[in-house]
Amino acid sequence: MPKYLPRDSFVTPRFCGVRTFMRLPHVEDLAPDMDFAIIGIPFDGGQSYRSGARFGPEAIRDASILLRPFNAEQKITIFDYISGVDYGDCPVVPGYIEETYKKTEITLRLAADLGIIPVVLGGDHCITLAELRALHQCHGPLGLVHFDAHSDTWDAYFEQKYNHGTTFRRAVEEGLLDPARVIQVGMRGPLYGADDLNAARELGFEVYTTSDLRRIGFKNMVEKIKARVLPGPVFLSFDIDFVDPAFAPGTGTPEVGGVTSWEALELVRGLRGIPFVGFDLVEVLPSYDHAQVTSLLAANIVYEFLTLIAIAKQERSVCTPCPSIPSA
Ligand code: MN
Ligand code: MN
Repeated sequence: MPKYLPRDSFVTPRFCGVRTFMRLPHVEDLAPDMDFAIIGIPFDGGQSYRSGARFGPEAIRDASILLRPFNAEQKITIFDYISGVDYGDCPVVPGYIEETYKKTEITLRLAADLGIIPVVLGGDHCITLAELRALHQCHGPLGLVHFDAHSDTWDAYFEQKYNHGTTFRRAVEEGLLDPARVIQVGMRGPLYGADDLNAARELGFEVYTTSDLRRIGFKNMVEKIKARVLPGPVFLSFDIDFVDPAFAPGTGTPEVGGVTSWEALELVRGLRGIPFVGFDLVEVLPSYDHAQVTSLLAANIVYEFLTLIAIAKQERSVCTPCPSIPSA
């Protein structure tokens, strides 16, 4: 029986209690008996257009109380296989990116060293650099599945090296990623120049626009992702602006013509079998949200992350070799 479980919503209604992700226990003392920890990074000092993603973690937690433990699409009761907590939020320093990186890296490193998979709620996309730094120390160069309308591979914005548009270029420069195991999906919208997406390809990334995704199809894209990132440790970074603003209006730099909620969920569900060592869901901006449309979708995507962790654990338990039977 897992030690850390959501509250039983047959005993107390889901709207009761202090908001944690999915009604999980709030535990700040991370311990090796946790499979995952939900960790908020409420920082938005890297946003280049609208600001306010610092309120993303609380909005996602608020919407997540609707989630139920049986994933009907993946046919698994998550907490039959894994146990986890809501750690709360990393300490951040508003307006100071590099100080925030240092502080969040400590928390993320602690989780990774204990064998806990961090599932991060952002915050804007600049925070992913701190996560990759921490996980790289534990796992070495990482593969990356990156869903986003933007490739976030600029060299600088306003002559600054750290913000939500430069994350993955910095990650390559710092040796955190294995570019041969990086795939970006969903890019779209007007650019500054014809070569903007080629800059990501020149870093060694495989890049698919939303139009490519439509042409190739969702099932085939899942196969392309697996072929690209396996084998080895992989990080999954999901920028909510990957989804069309009709389904996810609450975000900082929306681009029209994206995928639907259902398509986004299906893509994530297809990624079973990849050994993810960390996840994040970034760029939810509640002040532009309506009726929790964006935060509810974000909560459900994070729920699919937890399901992938549960499936991985289930598959490991099935595959564990039986103890050898002594010969008579
Ligand atoms: Mn992004
Ligand atoms: Mn984006």
